[in-house]
Amino acid sequence: MAVAEKRDYYETLGVERGVAADELKRAYKQLAIKFHPDKNPDDKAAEEQFKLVSEAYAVLSDPDKRRRYDQLGHAAFDPARGGTGFDAADFANIGEILEGFLDDMFGRRGGASRMPKDLRYNLEVSFEEAAIGAEREIEYERHELCEHCKGARSEPGSTQPECPACKGRGEVRFQKGFFATSRPCFSCDGSGVRKEAQCKQCSGRGAVPRKQRLRVKIPAGLEDGAVRTMAGMGEQTPAATGDLHVHVKVKPHPLFTRIGADVLCDVPVSFPQAALGANLDVPTLEGKVKMRLPPGTQSGKVFRLRGKGLPVFGGYGKGDELVKVVVEVPAKLTDRQRELLEELAREVGAETHPQQQTFLDKLRGLFE
Ligand SMILES: [Zn+2]
Ligand SMILES: [Zn+2]
Repeated sequence: MAVAEKRDYYETLGVERGVAADELKRAYKQLAIKFHPDKNPDDKAAEEQFKLVSEAYAVLSDPDKRRRYDQLGHAAFDPARGGTGFDAADFANIGEILEGFLDDMFGRRGGASRMPKDLRYNLEVSFEEAAIGAEREIEYERHELCEHCKGARSEPGSTQPECPACKGRGEVRFQKGFFATSRPCFSCDGSGVRKEAQCKQCSGRGAVPRKQRLRVKIPAGLEDGAVRTMAGMGEQTPAATGDLHVHVKVKPHPLFTRIGADVLCDVPVSFPQAALGANLDVPTLEGKVKMRLPPGTQSGKVFRLRGKGLPVFGGYGKGDELVKVVVEVPAKLTDRQRELLEELAREVGAETHPQQQTFLDKLRGLFE
């Protein structure tokens, strides 16, 4: 990498040359949190930025290195130009500084394992349940606070339970290149409590898995993909309790398709029914109803049955049922039927077919 192209360290951190140490730290903290790999997984550009700001801060936060940089610029550390270069020790202090930032960033105390966790439950309901509303009992497993230690992780009455190896954090941070990474503390298995003092009921985990039953209300008119959040029904940890998110999947109906609060139903009719008119049995969510099909109904015509749809979700009233007439062409004909149809075909011209007439008129208009 050509040293000449490298951005000025002060510029990288967005500060003036004469910046004071505490302001420098504030500027670095903001950028480090913004570009940290934990916050930008698989983002190479952010990782690159994170490295650049960390390098700039590593140099400028060290009075000796900062003086050399102010005198010589990047050349001060470029071995090709007689500089000293960098080694891991130059960044050792960065790790400690970052550790403090990250606790702020993720709001964690005593290890990431004590963060509240939300749970997801996938609930499949029938079309009718979603339409008219229902209540369903669900069973799932979640961690609940250990009754013995009340989530403290240590055996009640034990003295100085804190793990000395990780100072009760449950995890150990270490430097990997530019990045401060963490792993669970081996001495206490990530509990933050030394092994001898760990709660005997939960082995220092503070919470134990337990089956939980819950009634979930499906309000009338709920749509497929809706999420019901049950506050406080997620994982319990000593620090906080997560929520349970119930993702509702509405099973498709063999006859009805939902469009908001309306339901669409395709009703097949024969050609003679469509031509002559007929009394049809039409299914609705509340059972069959009679519908008068007027003579000369075209295929694709939609009739609206008012108030036969679903309750309007979060509102008043009901949607409609849309009955779409689909004229079916006979798939197989007897000799007699064919004879009659052929006779009909000779009898009817374009003038008896309004759509065909319009089509022929347009076609004529197009080529004349
Ligand atoms: Zn316990
Ligand atoms: Zn430990």
